[in-house]
Amino acid sequence: MKIKKIAKDIIYIHAGSMEPNIYLINNDTLIDTGLCLHKERLIKCIKSVGIEPENIKTIINTHCHHDHTSANVLFTNAKILIHEKDAFCIESGDSLKTGAFMFGKEAKKQKISLKLHDNDSIRIGDVKFTIINTPGHTDGSICIYDEKRQILFSGDTIFSETYGRVDLESGSKKDMKNSIEKLLSIKIKTLLPGHGDVIENNEHKINTLLHELKKEVY
Ligand SMILES: [Zn+2]
Repeated sequence: MKIKKIAKDIIYIHAGSMEPNIYLINNDTLIDTGLCLHKERLIKCIKSVGIEPENIKTIINTHCHHDHTSANVLFTNAKILIHEKDAFCIESGDSLKTGAFMFGKEAKKQKISLKLHDNDSIRIGDVKFTIINTPGHTDGSICIYDEKRQILFSGDTIFSETYGRVDLESGSKKDMKNSIEKLLSIKIKTLLPGHGDVIENNEHKINTLLHELKKEVY
């Protein structure tokens, strides 16, 4: 269990093995929620920063995969936002497309409140975030970008050392390459991925990583 303050309004939470990184923004919004495998620990993490699960108003899912979306159900007051192309498999509880079967689970149907599109803006507290559709890992994968502070939540599109799997349902190597190119066109100082280490305040490192990944995707 790991909790770390990234910025005044952003807290990194890792509830346990196999769980993804989740991020609490402005005390009322979560980026991804997890696998439900360590749900007591996840709730404990949330409570440890003074937040009750009922306080969570919004969940933004970076993509449809089970390990990022399954624990959405723990936050009963939250509206769920996801890219339109990854929304249907959540709404229909598709165990294949959400990858639930890989965890020996069945996906539960979830209600999506808002379907996101490339270039949408979302305001969380005082901060404007831009949705960037970055297909490759899944068709409806998104990165969430704070242009002012150059912070990128990258989901399973890119991690601190590699890019996300492209061999799953709706994954595509060609799309991944284009998405990495898209990310090269913006300034990123802090990378907050869906798994593994975060990279803070190091634009050079992130830029070098993206150039390397672009070469690797062939
Ligand atoms: Zn994934």
